[in-house]
Amino acid sequence: MAQAERFRKRLIAACVRAQNGRGRVGEDGRPRVDVAIIGAGATGVELSAELRNTAHVLSAYGLHQLDPRRDVHIHVIEAGPRILPALSERVSVETAKLLKKLDVDVLTSERVTEVTPLAVLTASGKHIDADLTVWAAGITAPPVLATLGLPVSRQGQIVVGPTLQSEGDPDIFAFGDCASCPWPEKQTTVPPRAQAAHQQATFLYNALRARLDGRPLPSFAFQDLGSLVSLGHFSAVGSLMGGLIGGSMFIEGLMARVMYTSLYRMHVMALHGAVGMALDTVSHWLRRKTSPRVKLH
Ligand SMILES: Cc1cc2nc3c(=O)[nH]c(=O)nc-3n(C[C@H](O)[C@H](O)[C@H](O)COP(=O)(O)OP(=O)(O)OC[C@H]3O[C@@H](n4cnc5c(N)ncnc54)[C@H](O)[C@@H]3O)c2cc1C
Repeated sequence: MAQAERFRKRLIAACVRAQNGRGRVGEDGRPRVDVAIIGAGATGVELSAELRNTAHVLSAYGLHQLDPRRDVHIHVIEAGPRILPALSERVSVETAKLLKKLDVDVLTSERVTEVTPLAVLTASGKHIDADLTVWAAGITAPPVLATLGLPVSRQGQIVVGPTLQSEGDPDIFAFGDCASCPWPEKQTTVPPRAQAAHQQATFLYNALRARLDGRPLPSFAFQDLGSLVSLGHFSAVGSLMGGLIGGSMFIEGLMARVMYTSLYRMHVMALHGAVGMALDTVSHWLRRKTSPRVKLH
């Protein structure tokens, strides 16, 4: 929260400086603000679209000298050959097209080698101006896991087998983001996602009951239900998978946006029940009507 708050204040300060002619000026003589996001996974991509929206709102709230499209430059820098490397190529291609429409500068096959206070440098020698830089290039597990004497992955996750027992000690189970669990069908490990953590929690509940009853432990099989990437108020893109639709289905636009919002509502319902979810939805709707879209102070 503290980091997000610091980022918000610095973004507004950079835009106000640019508006008042105290910031940097581009070759075209116009004020400019540059934001560099390192990593084009779902986090980096979603942030870039949200920031484009924020720039529009800031402009509407009084920073009239600042043209949100021309003057606020958003760069997404990815080391791999395409954005959203963990998702299907189609989702990646369609998302790249939508980001282009939002004037987000997407750089692929560019490995960041240095971050200075005002720029990001890449291995190919590119120098990208950056008033603000956001690191969104993946996660690592808490360092404490590496001190437990159990085998850990490159990301510092506890290495577990298909029963979610750690490889170092069968009495220690791990699941969710802190576990590196095999995903044999894809010859990789289960991705660090909420849907995986949720499936593993349900699995583990049953597995631990089986163990207490002296029955053999079952094996965990991750079922990828698909992914949705939100592009702010503009759109969403994703793919749905599963037995119901008989494979994988690409979705985008309003339908994907509605599904993204519905997923959030389903999570609220799981936590607070149907009545709680309905009340939360009404309260959210009222707050949206009365609160500013961007907090300015
Ligand atoms: C920006 C962002 C967006 C994401 N969006 C999506 C998405 O759209 N869909 C999706 O499926 N997944 C998404 N994820 C991934 C998803 O949030 C995680 O996979 C999921 O939360 C993993 O659940 P978990 O319980 O393993 O870990 P967490 O949800 O991280 O919970 C671990 C908890 O343990 C606490 N903790 C850590 N160390 C200690 C300690 N030493 N002692 C006590 N407590 C400790 C932490 O504070 C935390 O509350 C996103 C992640 C990020 C960062």
